[in-house]
Amino acid sequence: ENILADRVKLLTPSTTLAITAKAKELKAEGKDVIGLGAGEPDYNTPDHIIEAAYRSMKAGQTKYTPAAGTAELKNAIINKFKRDQVISYAPGEIFVGSGAKHVLYCLFQAILNTEDEVIIPTPYWVSYPEQVKLAGGTPVFIEGTEENEYKITSDQLETAITKKTKAIIINSPSNPTGMIYSSSELEAIAKICTERNILMVSDEIYEKLTYDGQNHLSVASISEEYQKQSIIINGVSKSHSMTGWRIGYAAGNAAIIKAMTNLASHSTSNPTTTAQFGALAAYEGTQEPVEEMRRAFEHRLNKVFSSVQDIPGFRCIKPQGAFYLFPNVKQAAQACGFKTVDEFAADLLEKANVAVIPGSGFGAEDNIRLSYATELSSLEEAIRRIHAYVDEQT
Ligand code: PLP
Repeated sequence: ENILADRVKLLTPSTTLAITAKAKELKAEGKDVIGLGAGEPDYNTPDHIIEAAYRSMKAGQTKYTPAAGTAELKNAIINKFKRDQVISYAPGEIFVGSGAKHVLYCLFQAILNTEDEVIIPTPYWVSYPEQVKLAGGTPVFIEGTEENEYKITSDQLETAITKKTKAIIINSPSNPTGMIYSSSELEAIAKICTERNILMVSDEIYEKLTYDGQNHLSVASISEEYQKQSIIINGVSKSHSMTGWRIGYAAGNAAIIKAMTNLASHSTSNPTTTAQFGALAAYEGTQEPVEEMRRAFEHRLNKVFSSVQDIPGFRCIKPQGAFYLFPNVKQAAQACGFKTVDEFAADLLEKANVAVIPGSGFGAEDNIRLSYATELSSLEEAIRRIHAYVDEQT
């Protein structure tokens, strides 16, 4: 105990990993467990990306690169911003790191002083509060209510702001809820942040995964003023099914980018050279595989959505993006005799052989998260099992 630093004592272990570990254990015992916990696409990385990475190694691209990424990859990212979102950035405004998670970590280390506050809407992605705390900051939560489709309002934001507020995290499309902020909702938030000089950290990692004709809008694309007030986080993990490659990036204020680069230069150095060449091919090559995966996720969502809603005691808003369903299951948990959804989820794994992630880790204790980055037949079978389990227990 005494050997550990105070900062790591504050860390909460990831609920996602705990359930996944338990599911693996049960599988190893020979149980037929279906895991709906995954936070990654179930497809392999497109071939042309793998081949480009291989060719780069054969050509001798196996050495260090600049800490914030190669000039070529930064350029490809700049072109991607121009092409997809009509936003201009200079190379000094781009930082490439080892996955969006690492990029966010460097960002909070670069901007937060002790007691600086960061506004985090709930439900949130599990790592945000931990990363803010690790940088000495204080997470301030605002509840995105179910009535407001798990999004926060500008009124709520006004009341949460204090003299210490440094930044807000916007994650749209959201993990875990799949909700997307509309342009008017984004504008209302951006206007307040600009007036009060609060940095908008916009995590757009699920940008490419939107459904029902919905489009993702980056707050930076609304106006130059909002672009200056924001830092965009994105990466190839979810869009190009490259979670294991570990390439993500930030775009924004050159002074912040420089500080992040200095941090990386003394910790990770450059993100893996080969992975950078893969990411380069991802952005410069055909975008067809991205759209193919998007269509597959949309198809699955449309196939299973109503059967999730039909489970007694489940209440679910149809996601507009990402690849998660996030039903409120409080009634079902209570009807099955449990005080908490955590216990309900644990029993589902034990008795129905389905692994889901309890919402408590996302700051939403009445919900569970089901990933539909899972092959359709397994997904349908898992939902059948959950339904049968609830029927049996009530
Ligand atoms: N942001 C959100 C909202 C995510 O869900 C994830 C991955 O789960 C990340 C960032 C991190 O992605 P990466 O694999 O690029 O680190």
